[in-house]
Amino acid sequence: MVDRVMKDDDEWQRMLTPEQYQVAREKGTEAPFSGKYHDFQGHGVYRCICCGQDLFSSDAKYDSGTGWSSFRAPVSEDHVETAMDTNHGMVRTEVRCPRCGAHLGHVFDDGPPPTGRRYCINSAALRFVGEENK
Ligand code: FE
Repeated sequence: MVDRVMKDDDEWQRMLTPEQYQVAREKGTEAPFSGKYHDFQGHGVYRCICCGQDLFSSDAKYDSGTGWSSFRAPVSEDHVETAMDTNHGMVRTEVRCPRCGAHLGHVFDDGPPPTGRRYCINSAALRFVGEENK
């Protein structure tokens, strides 16, 4: 079981930038090609901006051409959770951090083999930690 991280909105607002807060706590989406990681290729792990849980490895990152960081799979299936999202007139699958409830992005089924999944993740919801600093 994960140890859940619970904070109220004021606390999240104090520890996050306005953009991070809007994406991670208010289910925002950053503009394509604007995030700091969409074109970034460092080796390491991407952690939740809110609670620091490991989410995605750079090994699973690929260039989807969409302008958002894209991953084939999470570091572990229980390090993300999904939920149906019917906002904006679409039916999508939201991806969240199960530990703190942060909104990360969405997952689609048009990714490359072997998973066929494309985790489309906002840079503002992530903090990259390089191999050497883990
Ligand atoms: Fe989290």
